[in-house]
Amino acid sequence: MSNKCQCPDCQNPALSVIRNNEIISSPEPGFCFKHTEDKSAHLEAMLKYIDSHEKIVGLCASGISIKGVDLSNKQFYGCNFQHSMFSNIHSSGLKFKICMLDFSTFTDCDMLNSDIQFSSFSGSKFIHVVFTGSDLVHNNYNGITAYQCSFDDSDFYNSRFIRAILMNTSMKNCNLKKTIFYNSAREHVSFKLSNTREALIDRNKSGLVGGFSESEGEEEL
Ligand SMILES: [Zn+2]
Repeated sequence: MSNKCQCPDCQNPALSVIRNNEIISSPEPGFCFKHTEDKSAHLEAMLKYIDSHEKIVGLCASGISIKGVDLSNKQFYGCNFQHSMFSNIHSSGLKFKICMLDFSTFTDCDMLNSDIQFSSFSGSKFIHVVFTGSDLVHNNYNGITAYQCSFDDSDFYNSRFIRAILMNTSMKNCNLKKTIFYNSAREHVSFKLSNTREALIDRNKSGLVGGFSESEGEEEL
């Protein structure tokens, strides 16, 4: 999907080369964002490409920052946004399928009614992010930190939150069937109306229930 940065010893993936508002598909010498000489021109070309296409396939945009962009109804397939920064993104109907967004940071974003599947956010940070009403199934949220976020009314079927830290975050009325929370830390997380009994909380228990106290009941894991 992506080739390596041309800089000697750099292991980062090379950014997609965009020319005449199209992704150049044949591999040619490219650089990671860090080693891209004209960062603002490259970022501008990428944002223009995203803005003018509804469906974006195989874009490597690792390490970039996206601020204040409306990504409503954009469809990303097989894209790489690892180590990227998203801030003030206001969208609804955003779609990510088989995308890599590991070690990224999301701040002050509304991503309502998103459709995100088979994608990876491992090690990412979410601060003041609202995902209400989203399909977030088969995703990897291992090691994430979520602070003051809302995932209400979302489907987390078969997603993983291993070693995640969730604070002051709302997961009300969510489908947690086969959602894995092994070794996660949760502080002031509301699971009201969510099917916590179908979540996997303790890897030592083969059943579905375990690791959360009676008093917390169906509200907090
Ligand atoms: Zn590089």
